[in-house]
Amino acid sequence: MPDVTGRSRVLVVGAGPAGCAAGLALLARGLDVCVVDRARFPRDKRCGDALSNRACALLASLGLDPVRLVDGQGAVRGGVVRFPDGTRIARRYDEPGRIVPRRRLDAALHDALAGAGARLFDEVAVRSLERTATGTFVASGPRLRWEAETVIAADGPGSVAWSASGRAYPRGRALGLPATQYLENVRPSVEDDAAVHWFEADLPCGYGWAFPAVDGRTNVGIWVRADAHDARRAPLRALLERFLARHPERFDGARPVSPVRAWPLPLAPAPWPRAEPGLLLTGDAAALADPLSGEGIWQALRSGQLAAEALADEPGDEAGRRAAAEAYLRTCAREFGREAALRSRAQDALRIAVERGWYRFGPVRAALDLFYGHGLLDRMKTVRR
Ligand SMILES: Cc1cc2nc3c(=O)[nH]c(=O)nc-3n(C[C@H](O)[C@H](O)[C@H](O)COP(=O)(O)OP(=O)(O)OC[C@H]3O[C@@H](n4cnc5c(N)ncnc54)[C@H](O)[C@@H]3O)c2cc1C
Repeated sequence: MPDVTGRSRVLVVGAGPAGCAAGLALLARGLDVCVVDRARFPRDKRCGDALSNRACALLASLGLDPVRLVDGQGAVRGGVVRFPDGTRIARRYDEPGRIVPRRRLDAALHDALAGAGARLFDEVAVRSLERTATGTFVASGPRLRWEAETVIAADGPGSVAWSASGRAYPRGRALGLPATQYLENVRPSVEDDAAVHWFEADLPCGYGWAFPAVDGRTNVGIWVRADAHDARRAPLRALLERFLARHPERFDGARPVSPVRAWPLPLAPAPWPRAEPGLLLTGDAAALADPLSGEGIWQALRSGQLAAEALADEPGDEAGRRAAAEAYLRTCAREFGREAALRSRAQDALRIAVERGWYRFGPVRAALDLFYGHGLLDRMKTVRR
C-alpha cells in the first residue's frame, strides 16, 4: 500500500547529481517539487569519482565546496594520456579538478536538497509513469502514487522515462561499458596529482585510468564502447585485470579494497530526444555522458539546472509544457550536442591511431599535442576565470 502519495507541480525521479541539481534549482525558483530516490542515502555509485573543473564550478554554484568534501585531498592538477609504447602527452590544468568519492559527493548533494526544504523521499522507487488524459503524469511504485504536471527523469541508465515513452536502451556507440575498483598501496608516481588515461589496443573506444588517491584509495578502471567490445572474448573484469597486470610500475603490490564493479554509461549524442511535453530527461537518463572521456557528472548537474530553468516561466498548461520541452531540447543541443558529436568521432580516430600504431607518426602526434596537450578538445568542460 503506497505511503507516499500526493501531487506537485514537478516530480524529480532520482536524487543523484542531476536530480539534486534540478531540485535545488526548482526550489530556488519557488516551484513546488517532490524528489524520490529508490536508494537510501548515503549510497555508493559506480564511478571514477573525477570532477572536472566545470563540475567543481557547478557544485560551487549550488553552494557546495568539493575541496572541503575531501579535506583538500584529491586535487587533479593535470591530465596525462599514455599510449602502448609508453608515449606520453601531458598537460597542466589552469584550474584543478577534484576526486570526490561518490558516496560523499552524492550525500552532500542530498543533504543540500533536504536542507533547502525539498519534499525528499529515500527508498521510494518509481516503477511506472503514466500520462493522464490531461497530459499530467502519475508515477507509481510499491510505496508511491504521485501526480505531477511535469516529471524530470534523473534516474540514470534504464530510466522509467525510457519505458514510459518507448525509448530503446542505448546500444552500440551510444553505450559505454566501464568497470572500476578501489586499490590501496598503488605505487607513487610523478603523475600522482594527474588523471592518467591509458589508451590501449584491447580497450577500443575507451581507456584505462588511475586517478589521484583520496584517503589512500586510488580509483582505477577501464571502459570500452559497446560497439567495439566482444563480451564473450573479454569480460570487463578480465580487461581490468589485464590492464592492471600490464602496469606493474603502478599496480604491482596494490591491494583491492572493493569488489570490481561495472555499470552502464549511456553516451551522448543520445539516440532519441531528451524531452517531450511534461517529461524532461537529465543526466544519464538523457544519455549525456561525454563519448570521449566518459565523464557525466557535470552534464548531470548542468542538465538538471537547465531542466529547472525551462520550467521556470511555464504556466502549467499543455501549451506551456510543450514550450518548456522545446526550450530544454534547444539548450541541450546548444550546450552538449555539437561538441559531443565531435568527441565521439575523436574517440573513433583514437581507436584507429592506437590499433595501427599511428600515434607514433609525426602528424598524428602533432594533432594529439594540439587537441589534448593544449586542451582544444576540452573547452566544453573547462571553466576559465
Ligand atoms: C564506472 C563509471 C565511471 C565513471 N567515472 C566518471 C568520472 O570519473 N567522472 C564523471 O564525471 N563521470 C563519470 N561517470 C559517469 C557518471 O557516474 C554519471 O554520468 C553520473 O552519475 C550521472 O548522474 P545522474 O544523476 O544522471 O545519475 P545517477 O548518479 O546514476 O543517479 C541516479 C539516481 O536515481 C536513482 N534511481 C534509479 N532508478 C530509480 C527509480 N526507478 N526510482 C527512483 N529512483 C531511482 C538511483 O538510486 C540514483 O540515486 C562514470 C560512470 C561509470 C559507470
